[in-house]
Amino acid sequence: MEMLRPSLLAGLPDDLELHHIVVNSWDQGVDAPQNVVLISIASVKDPSLAPEGKHCLHAYLPATEPYELWKGLDRKSPEYQALKEQRSQVLWRAVEKVIPDIRQRAEMSFVGTPLTQERYLRRSRGTYGPAIKAGEGLFPGPATPIKGLYCCGDSTFPGIGLPAVAASGAICANTLVPLSQHLALLDELGL
Ligand SMILES: Cc1cc2nc3c(=O)[nH]c(=O)nc-3n(C[C@H](O)[C@H](O)[C@H](O)COP(=O)(O)OP(=O)(O)OC[C@H]3O[C@@H](n4cnc5c(N)ncnc54)[C@H](O)[C@@H]3O)c2cc1C
Repeated sequence: MEMLRPSLLAGLPDDLELHHIVVNSWDQGVDAPQNVVLISIASVKDPSLAPEGKHCLHAYLPATEPYELWKGLDRKSPEYQALKEQRSQVLWRAVEKVIPDIRQRAEMSFVGTPLTQERYLRRSRGTYGPAIKAGEGLFPGPATPIKGLYCCGDSTFPGIGLPAVAASGAICANTLVPLSQHLALLDELGL
């Protein structure tokens, strides 16, 4: 579940940090529902990501929101809206630890749910992607049984996350053309 919301800059500390992690209870463990909130304020590093004088902020629960709570809900129903409001409070409270008056500052907010990820990213049960435990299996490589069809992204080796996805693209490219061709292209580009 996640929340995205721009806020005004005035009165925020000059040294506002990009990333914050709020753990509500260390006793419950980091995979307990509604316990750990990750916050990123990307416009701290790149102001072009928000309109002038504002920030954009993303807060989310890292894969701990139970899908069963949302399963089968009509996304246009009042029940769904109410559940969004209720389940996103943990995000607001976490952001308040960083920006105490965030609710007054906020101009726009969007709450995403497992159904959002499921619908817009076509993620199974609204997850981040496949989780394969070390020692229990491997992500597939880029080749497929269909001649000429190659895959990259977080369903392929090495797995979930932007660095891994970028690596999967590099692995795919490397599968398509040998290193000598890469080097020849770099020469051609003068790099
Ligand atoms: C809330 C959240 C927080 C995350 N935080 C981090 C983080 O901090 N650091 C990190 O490294 N990773 C993070 N990740 C993981 C990372 O975002 C993903 O692993 C990565 O974006 C996957 O890249 P991808 O290109 O494989 O797939 P995606 O980025 O999901 O791209 C697939 C695209 O294909 C589109 N699509 C799907 N089906 C179809 C279709 N039939 N026709 C046309 N288009 C289609 C989708 O709409 C989507 O745009 C996070 C993920 C989530 C959900």
